[in-house]
Amino acid sequence: MKCIFCQIINKESPADVVFENEKIIVFKDINPKAPVHLLVVPKEHIKSLNKLENKELLFEIFLTIKKIARKVGILQGHQVIISVGEKGGQEVDHLHFHLLGGWK
Ligand code: 5GP
Ligand code: ZN
Repeated sequence: MKCIFCQIINKESPADVVFENEKIIVFKDINPKAPVHLLVVPKEHIKSLNKLENKELLFEIFLTIKKIARKVGILQGHQVIISVGEKGGQEVDHLHFHLLGGWK
């Protein structure tokens, strides 16, 4: 079966999308581990951080994280988490950055 995040990107699966441009999509994690738990995902299917070589894309992802953190009110306090590989807890083999926050 096709990658679940590619399905979301291609609108073949539903997701609560909070931001999207031609390169990046941001949507709510289906199983949130914090009051705010978003996934920042490049639209290109890159398997993991180990396979990312595009510096511009990496920079744009972090600019997007900052922009979205500001938009949802967690700019002053949040976590960015990246799981890399099965032993690093990566369950979806499409590069994604967890943006977590909103704790009291
Ligand atoms: P990982 O463990 O790979 O770092 O994180 C994968 C994340 O994707 C998990 O937090 C999981 O809850 C989320 N997730 C898995 N499948 C779906 C889905 O179909 N839709 C959404 N919105 N999130 C998903
Ligand atoms: Zn994919």
